[in-house]
Amino acid sequence: MKRTGLHRRSPLRATGQLQRHTSLSPARPVEDAVADVQRIPLRRHVHLRRCTSRIPRQLRAAVYDRAEGTCDMCGRWLQPDLWEANHRLMRSQGGRDALINLVALHPACHRGPQGVHHRPAWAYANGLLVPARRDPQQWPVLRHGLIWQMPLGRTWADCDPHPDQLERLADLDEDGDAA
Ligand SMILES: [Zn+2]
Repeated sequence: MKRTGLHRRSPLRATGQLQRHTSLSPARPVEDAVADVQRIPLRRHVHLRRCTSRIPRQLRAAVYDRAEGTCDMCGRWLQPDLWEANHRLMRSQGGRDALINLVALHPACHRGPQGVHHRPAWAYANGLLVPARRDPQQWPVLRHGLIWQMPLGRTWADCDPHPDQLERLADLDEDGDAA
């Protein structure tokens, strides 16, 4: 019988290839993978994951849980793997990685054109940012744009705004910028 091109090819050596697969080590615990990521030199790490990557994983989870899976700014649902932790008192001002100082935001609410960092006057007034030299514990959040609350540990507690916040809000124009 005349062989076609296909038949002339030698069969794959399947057993050898399968054996290479079985020689892989068993699945590694997630903790090991996280530890690997944490060993990546800092500059590359920050480049890959932006600024929220240095917050300890458990603290990030607590911020998300406290927000009950919603954005602390706009109140809409936050995908568990697609949100950013915002330091209210910025790290450059000495703000710490702590529950009192962190809120959960959509990336757009954090860094977008209508976000916290593009409208600082508005964000300072509503507590999503804390002005330099102010104490985050004395500077509550107008949460979801509706209700004044303080991030106390693992819950949000109703409270009154700082008088300076009301003054700052009154000074904003209709777009939420400094008048
Ligand atoms: Zn949002």
